[in-house]
Amino acid sequence: MRPIQMVDLQTQYQQIKPEIDAAIQKVIDDATFIKGPQVTDFSVALASWLSVRHVIPTGNGTDALQIALMALGLKEGDEVITPDFTFIATAEVVALLGLTPVVADVDRDTMNISIDAVRKAITPKTKAIVPVHLFGQCADMEPLLQLAKENNLYVVEDACQAIGAEYIFSDGTRKKAGTIGHIGCTSFFPSKNLGCYGDGGAIFTDDDELAKRMQAIANHGMVIRYHHDMVGVNSRLDSIQAAVLGVKLTHLDEYTGQRQLAADYYDRAFANNKSLTCPARAKYSTHVFHQYTLQVNNYDRDTLREQLREAGIPAMVYYPVPLHMQKAYHDQRYRQGDFPASEYLASCVLSLPMHTCLTQEQLEYITQTVNRLIGQSDNR
Ligand SMILES: *Cc1c(COP(=O)(O)O)cnc(C)c1O
Repeated sequence: MRPIQMVDLQTQYQQIKPEIDAAIQKVIDDATFIKGPQVTDFSVALASWLSVRHVIPTGNGTDALQIALMALGLKEGDEVITPDFTFIATAEVVALLGLTPVVADVDRDTMNISIDAVRKAITPKTKAIVPVHLFGQCADMEPLLQLAKENNLYVVEDACQAIGAEYIFSDGTRKKAGTIGHIGCTSFFPSKNLGCYGDGGAIFTDDDELAKRMQAIANHGMVIRYHHDMVGVNSRLDSIQAAVLGVKLTHLDEYTGQRQLAADYYDRAFANNKSLTCPARAKYSTHVFHQYTLQVNNYDRDTLREQLREAGIPAMVYYPVPLHMQKAYHDQRYRQGDFPASEYLASCVLSLPMHTCLTQEQLEYITQTVNRLIGQSDNR
């Protein structure tokens, strides 16, 4: 059996090596390292795949979020609502821009932002909501969009973990994660569902005006060459990364299918294990399983993680500390106990290996080991 990894990018590369090598070699041969045709080709292909009007490539997912927020014309002290249980980048860019991050609790089952909590967090200063489609499943966007509309708020989706996930509206129409709100952001960090071989990100929108502004902000605030209309940043996807992404986009549906098969295997194997809660499958979203994240009940999560490690199975805690308890974000507004679902999840989540190259043998070994360690009552 191949050693088990959280993410196995070596095996995935071996499967597509000739395509990737040729695509990278072309960039080197042509020396089109920055703004090469690969960047435009990939952006066009991704826009078509997502059914969105504009794809603006960026240097990484954090930049994508920052540029999106910069384009909204917010001013210091304006409030932006984010979930309390997420990767730090979501709130970091809000704070960096001098805006005020306001966190909202999540739903314990989906682990995504709670619509009730958002409703309670809205004040006259609220200007935007940044829902995160955590672990690969969409937040409940229909009621969120309604709430945003009623309160005249922007919705900027953090779709860094959810490329390809589909939100299903109550009338049956479907939209891909990142194309539902005013702006969507994604990351092409190597371990993301669509990952490059370095850093990369992108912004999506159907709004022509916002697109123009974000394009300019990502390029030093420049609309006409050397005329800078606004303060911008320098955030680019380089051509080698775009070349890799162009190849991998053609495999993305197949990759998603492989993740979903692995998740189904885990679900079946843990169905009768009372110590574990498998990831909830929301009716309103497909799940692309960036992570397969269990909730460990009646057993110490960190002990389980250590026992798995000893058995050659890596497992990760995404995320051990909720935003409101992070040193940099903890202030007098927040106390331990304020966000019970988020705090509960931080104490009990455990993500198992999840990638496109998990073998039946590996899945069998992982699930049997987990069930052996905490499936039996004498182990609790
Ligand atoms: C990965 C990630 C980001 C940041 O992406 P980078 O490309 O690493 O900057 C932001 N938000 C979430 C939820 C992420 O998972």
